[in-house]
Amino acid sequence: MRGLGGKACDPTETECQDKNHCVVCELFGCTGWARKFRFQVLSADGKPQKCQIEADQKFQLSFTPLRPVIDKEWALLDVTLRLIADYGAIGGRTVFKPSDESSRADKEHHKDYGLIQILGEKSPVEPVDRKTLEDYVRLSRWREVDHGDFAWASLENFWCVKGRYLARQDQNTSTFNRMNGRPEPKGQSSQGDSWLAGRRAHGQPNPQSPESKKVFSFKKPPRTFGFVEQESELASLCPKFIRYLSHEWKNFSEQEILTFNRILNELSARRTS
Ligand SMILES: [Zn+2]
Repeated sequence: MRGLGGKACDPTETECQDKNHCVVCELFGCTGWARKFRFQVLSADGKPQKCQIEADQKFQLSFTPLRPVIDKEWALLDVTLRLIADYGAIGGRTVFKPSDESSRADKEHHKDYGLIQILGEKSPVEPVDRKTLEDYVRLSRWREVDHGDFAWASLENFWCVKGRYLARQDQNTSTFNRMNGRPEPKGQSSQGDSWLAGRRAHGQPNPQSPESKKVFSFKKPPRTFGFVEQESELASLCPKFIRYLSHEWKNFSEQEILTFNRILNELSARRTS
């Protein structure tokens, strides 16, 4: 929604209520406004998925309308899911990072979680063009939201590189930490808290709330994505990215950095092809 120029509240501390709500709460609901669909994770044969989903397992995401869902809402949901599948990841363990240390690469916290692939020939959702979606999310009937500290969480600030990953190589080398600006030797990385690197909850001497890192990397299949702090920084960060990445990644070119406009065009092109 933010990437398309709309205003979306932070659901952990929202002021959306009743009819005075943002475009996201219109679909997902808020206090005094019922959600429009029931969401379920089902097994491949349509039964409720009770166990944790394993690698290579097929499953279904089921959206059952409870109230009328309009074509723009279906289209936005559809784009979101295809964005996750093709350029991002889903779920709580996406923060794990890969390792190239042979004795450690198979450890739980180095595994890749949350990469999904959409199967099936055709989306059940009718495509809606970008302009129509932009007009819809920007309608004046939605509550005006001050994005404040979470303005960065917009696809305008998103980037993705496919076919490449960052990892720890050995005790003293970690391309992942280098990218984030953290010290590379093992055990020292907490000294590098920053916006990009995130921070841990036990920061001393001043206890602080934890904050997610903004770079995510996966080894199988290789994929690296993240956020920069503001839209304007994407351009200015590019030289820094390229300096890091072209050093770490053989024959890396700037063209490999996918940003929102290109991603949205790719998603639309695939829909019509
Ligand atoms: Zn809201």
